[in-house]
Amino acid sequence: MKILVLNCGSSSLKYQLFDMDHEDVLAKGLVERIGIEGSRLKQEVGESEWETQTEIPDHKKAVALVFAALTDAEHGVIADMDEIDAIGHRVVHGGEAFTESTLIDTKVMAAIEKYAVFSPLHNPANLQGIVAAREALPGKPNVAVFDTAFHQTMPERNFLYALPYEYYKEHGIRRYGFHGTSHNFIAHRAAELLGKPLEELNIISCHLGNGSSVTAIKNGKSYLTSMGQTPLAGVPMGTRTGDIDPAVVLFLIQNLGMSAEEVDTLLNKKSGVYGISGKSSDFRDLDEAAQAGDARSQLALDVFYSRVRETIGAYAVELGRVDAITFTGGIGENGPENREGICEGLEIIGAKLDKEINNQRKPKEKKISTEDSKVAIWVIPTNEELMIARDTKRLAEA
Ligand code: AMP
Repeated sequence: MKILVLNCGSSSLKYQLFDMDHEDVLAKGLVERIGIEGSRLKQEVGESEWETQTEIPDHKKAVALVFAALTDAEHGVIADMDEIDAIGHRVVHGGEAFTESTLIDTKVMAAIEKYAVFSPLHNPANLQGIVAAREALPGKPNVAVFDTAFHQTMPERNFLYALPYEYYKEHGIRRYGFHGTSHNFIAHRAAELLGKPLEELNIISCHLGNGSSVTAIKNGKSYLTSMGQTPLAGVPMGTRTGDIDPAVVLFLIQNLGMSAEEVDTLLNKKSGVYGISGKSSDFRDLDEAAQAGDARSQLALDVFYSRVRETIGAYAVELGRVDAITFTGGIGENGPENREGICEGLEIIGAKLDKEINNQRKPKEKKISTEDSKVAIWVIPTNEELMIARDTKRLAEA
């Protein structure tokens, strides 16, 4: 069975074609700068890379181009689009309507549109990808896999904000959580690695990348997570603030005369470790600058480490018992110095880092805690696309 996974962003489209018999990636690629000058498609098949530049005004054209690339006589991997059995779509916000992945019909599409109020950049792009795929391959099943779905198991006391209750009931204002597909993948893989049933495991999963979130997984299910109604909440990120006093927003509007749009840009695009350092949102740059003595880059890293660590500490208390702390995402998988910064002091909850193993670049997937650590610490590379492909296969077959 061949499954195509589409991940549509506001101006980009990432894709992977899987042969699910052995979960092999046949091809993967990226369409960049959709609707912007200089748009292009890059495709990787095994070791070989191919790039083509053409005008790509919208997601419909982008999806058409993906199909053309996959069936290209020279660079493609399939002879005909009909070989694709089903398409899986990453959808960012599924609100309370979706507790798991689902086959897409017009009702599901209407719900994705409804939740665009909470995810104005992503849900409309996700929807455009769905419309384009349905048009291009009529009759083939399309499946939506939501970033929010895994977190729908959170108890009310963990997702409710302390606003008047009507704001939750009437407007849906609450913590939803994101990166669910990744945290879910990590939970399943951690259970395999630890050799225990997932239902018996308590894990603190740290997905640290451009966007970062920490999730407390209790008995295999999401129990508490750091992102909120939107992916702006929680720990500081590349350019996002994470949690701040909500009155700061009022101060920016009332005292600095900023508009809602300006505040939005400030909090989402100019803050985080980029805002503190004044240098970069990329942790590689910050590590390098800090080592060369740049105090503000070090400060940005220190703020990040402290907030991630305090979240882990709080979640350990909420869980009562922690079997494993896991690191994934661009930073979690590739930044040993960043993992070390976060783990400093975690001995108090029984988690001891083995600094030597932590510093070894390979293998990527490894246990990085000491033999006598009560809590296992693991690096587990995430694979959201594979998780989406697995759900798509399951639902398409059903
Ligand atoms: P992601 O959003 O998961 O793709 O993560 C992207 C981020 O990972 C980049 O912005 C970098 O900050 C970070 N990253 C990638 N490689 C490294 C590395 N070797 N060391 C530290 N951070 C890294």
